[in-house]
Amino acid sequence: MTSTLSRPAVNDQHRTTLAPLTVPERLLLGPGPSNADPVVIAAMNRQPIGHLDPAYLAMMDEVQELLRYTWQTSNTLTYPIAGTGSAAMEATLANVVEPGDRVLIGVKGYFGNRLVDMATRYGADVRTMHRPWGEVFSLDDIRAALAEHRPAVLALVHAETSTGARQPFEGVGDLCREFDCLLIADTVTSLGGVPIFLDDWKVDLAYSCSQKGLSCPPGISPFTMGPRAVEKLQRRQSKVANWYLDADLLRKYWGSDRVYHHTAPVNLTYALREALRLLAEEGLEARWQRHQQTAETFWEGLADLGLKCHVEKEHRLPTLTTVCVPEGVDAKAVNRLLLSEHNIEIGGGLGELAGKVWRVGLMGANSHPDRVETLLTALDRVIHQVRAA
Ligand SMILES: *Cc1c(COP(=O)(O)O)cnc(C)c1O
Repeated sequence: MTSTLSRPAVNDQHRTTLAPLTVPERLLLGPGPSNADPVVIAAMNRQPIGHLDPAYLAMMDEVQELLRYTWQTSNTLTYPIAGTGSAAMEATLANVVEPGDRVLIGVKGYFGNRLVDMATRYGADVRTMHRPWGEVFSLDDIRAALAEHRPAVLALVHAETSTGARQPFEGVGDLCREFDCLLIADTVTSLGGVPIFLDDWKVDLAYSCSQKGLSCPPGISPFTMGPRAVEKLQRRQSKVANWYLDADLLRKYWGSDRVYHHTAPVNLTYALREALRLLAEEGLEARWQRHQQTAETFWEGLADLGLKCHVEKEHRLPTLTTVCVPEGVDAKAVNRLLLSEHNIEIGGGLGELAGKVWRVGLMGANSHPDRVETLLTALDRVIHQVRAA
């Protein structure tokens, strides 16, 4: 027996006694996470297998192929990153930005600012173009900014979750080729809910997440990189300044070499595989239409309650709606009551829109007329309650 005499006594100060875990059931209608599909949850709830097991390797191929379908791309380098959407976001910048590279970022909401922060940390010479929160850039705005700054990379958020606006991408890729610049698209709140044609739009790098339009738990995030971006990666003078997200190392695992890099989040891969299987079964066109129809039902219902949307209909996202908080209503009190009395989570405003809007996500499995009705009924009741208080 090992002597315990030489060791200090174990300190039990932090040894709390817990009951087995219980988790409240919520209807998640905020900016994310959304509820995961029960089929996806069932898929996750199995024993892990090894990340080099032939069954796992086959699953990786399935995930890669279905991600290409979901994004409408043929990029070889298409795989999920072990981390949330921000990790996949960071992966795009880490791989193509070298210190001193000029990076132009379109800022029209919170996530544009996050791109600025990340690009700065990789030593980019960051330039920004701005639109008010809730609006989008025109092709003329983009051409003028490319001509002024001559960047190596342009990053734009397709679906700005802080504002509910959809940035049109048609023609942006052509402009970027004209100015010899790479194009990064944030498709975190659009993938699986809003039309995306990555190759047609000539997008060079894109990223997304699992917990919004794909109805999967958070923690595994789609990433893709096209041939022009791979070329820039191969021309690098300096190593990618992030070992975990280095696409050159990761592709040795995701490609045919199958070289160990890090232990894959095996159960999350099961989840994503099933989420993508369900998406492919439904089909992209049908899925996009479902999201658009559900959103329009919601917008009509809001109008019936006398509530307004922050974004013009033309650029409104079907996946995320910013609802204007009526004069004299305490926005946070409404969020609190929705959660405590109706088990419904919606989001509050971020940054410039804090206190001014609620953010309602109708994504993936939650894009359904039943959920809209549940929310509208509860929202109407709660707003009256808060007004009367
Ligand atoms: C949610 C979101 C992110 C970040 O994703 P996480 O999964 O929260 O890390 C990035 N960009 C946009 C537009 C988002 O909505």
